[in-house]
Amino acid sequence: LSPVPSDIEISRGQVPKPVDLLAKEIGLLADEIEVYGKAKAKVRLSLLERLKEQPDGKYVLVAGITPTPLGEGKSTVTIGLVQALTAHLQVNSFACLRQPSQGPTFGVKGGAAGGGYAQVIPMEEFNLHLTGDIHAITAANNLLAAAIDARILHESTQSDKALYNRLVPSVNGVRKFASIQLARLHRLGINKSDPSTLTAEEITSFVRLDIDPATITWQRVLDTNDRFLRKITVGQANTEKGFIRQTQFDIAVASEIMAILALTDGLADMKDRLGKMVVASDKKGHPVTAEDLGVTGALAVLMKDAIKPTLMQTLEVRQSVFVHAGPFANIAHGNSSVLADKIALKLVGEGGFVVTEAGFGADIGMEKFFNIKCRISGLRPNVVVLVATVRALKMHGGGPNVSAGAPLPKEYTDENLKLVADGCCNLQKQIQIAHHFGVPVVVALNVFKTDTKAETDLVCQIAKDAGASDAVPCYHWARGGKGSVELAKAVREAANQQNSFKFLYDLQLPIVEKIRTVAQKVYGAEDIELSPEAQTKIDNYTKQGFGTLPICMAKTHLSLSHLPDKKGVPTGFILPIRDVRASIGAGFIYPLVGTMSTMPGLPTRPCFYDIDLDPETEQITGLF
Ligand code: ADP
Repeated sequence: LSPVPSDIEISRGQVPKPVDLLAKEIGLLADEIEVYGKAKAKVRLSLLERLKEQPDGKYVLVAGITPTPLGEGKSTVTIGLVQALTAHLQVNSFACLRQPSQGPTFGVKGGAAGGGYAQVIPMEEFNLHLTGDIHAITAANNLLAAAIDARILHESTQSDKALYNRLVPSVNGVRKFASIQLARLHRLGINKSDPSTLTAEEITSFVRLDIDPATITWQRVLDTNDRFLRKITVGQANTEKGFIRQTQFDIAVASEIMAILALTDGLADMKDRLGKMVVASDKKGHPVTAEDLGVTGALAVLMKDAIKPTLMQTLEVRQSVFVHAGPFANIAHGNSSVLADKIALKLVGEGGFVVTEAGFGADIGMEKFFNIKCRISGLRPNVVVLVATVRALKMHGGGPNVSAGAPLPKEYTDENLKLVADGCCNLQKQIQIAHHFGVPVVVALNVFKTDTKAETDLVCQIAKDAGASDAVPCYHWARGGKGSVELAKAVREAANQQNSFKFLYDLQLPIVEKIRTVAQKVYGAEDIELSPEAQTKIDNYTKQGFGTLPICMAKTHLSLSHLPDKKGVPTGFILPIRDVRASIGAGFIYPLVGTMSTMPGLPTRPCFYDIDLDPETEQITGLF
């Protein structure tokens, strides 16, 4: 239709195919899916075993230029591309998307189901709750947080004997260790399985984790942009006997458990990673893990369904999509899951295409995709699709800031070739970053109705001059898959090109050097500057044996630098590393850059003002 209706109107105008039928059409067996409602199903991991001999399809990563408040449309491009591949080029394809966080859905950004005629349906279900994975992560994360504070309290108020009696209760006069306790004893070097044989000294080291409260790095999480939880004080009730400490909430999708969900390759590996999560140090400086707290099994139980990717469909050809793992490539890992990608690659088979999404600009989402996700999964992408828009490039070229709700300044609605040309420096830099990894790049210019042909031609020419294999304007938002056929052809072509994939840094480099490499080679920083706190943490993590992990930077997505206002390609800056955390279960070191916060806030006029429910029809309005 023209004009294109709102995202939710388009979504609601479509009747999704029953998901069991969809699953059957892509070759899933009835017992390989678990249906949630009519249009969503979890896919069982046994599928991977059944398809293990099947060759993989081609692997395509969608990343973007540095985002601006004007929007780029990575999800829209991802869906438009698979709609074009499947319906118009008859190529088997699959999209792997991330589940949106309810923070942005009710905050600034809105949903993330794509938009226009390139969407996942039903978009309400996609954007709200889905199949509960983020809720499961929240529950697991906060169970662990509760376990830490409760343990400190109990250890400090009870004698060794009393602790022992409670930790190893007597059943019918017999004490028996739980298997998780045997594992802890083993880690302590006490190879005894009969509780009655423990010496007093062994009992002390067994019952006391001796957590140093000042070293706790595990935070509570919530999937709401609640800025007032950025710093909180816990333990204020009398019952907590003065165990007051400052801590904070992070947004749920930044939980290490979300990163584990994205990176794991199965239940056993997930359980192992959950157990390895380091939450603090003890008073001697040794790491304390979820396993030490005895909570690994419970966390795995809470996460057992979340590990299965959710099957949904696109709007145009009712084509299948996996939704799995979470967003926020700035403060988290921000990529769709390894499991969804692996299953999809098997399902499309040889000659097919899987299009997966990395969040925000290529400098963060794609960098983490390569250096963390590909390193762990062993998968290698064939093509990077870099999404740009004329309006965002104009902002990088010096166009004025926009305020929410105000009409767009004319710089963005009228032709302005100078701003476009100046802003293309950001696109050139992002192409260069992808080339550091040796992967061919196709630029997808997501066209808005106010863009002129001279502007889109200019962007495509500059992109090709910068070494992109191809650069094409895309019209999927207004026309669905047929608006992205040129993109699909360009991607198919590039996927057959020579690919000399390599990582950006060697894991054996010291942590500081790995951070410096990302800062200089990817962000263009002159150097890095470590706060004393960051330096101490790095020394500590290195001493604890975590020095060979990859790096997951928490940095603003709004600039290549740490300063959100610096558009284009900032130079001459020193990247400040304020703090460093370690996500040992997920398998990365997590430096916090500048003032980056791990809990977003709500603006003056959040999206929730427009979201409503009609009690008669149960229809939701205002989601976009
Ligand atoms: P990203 O994945 O980069 O965050 P999305 O694909 O989710 O972006 O798109 C963000 C919003 O912008 C959606 O509401 C979508 O409908 C809108 N949008 C995307 N592309 C276009 C376009 N070409 N014209 C108009 N609106 C668009």
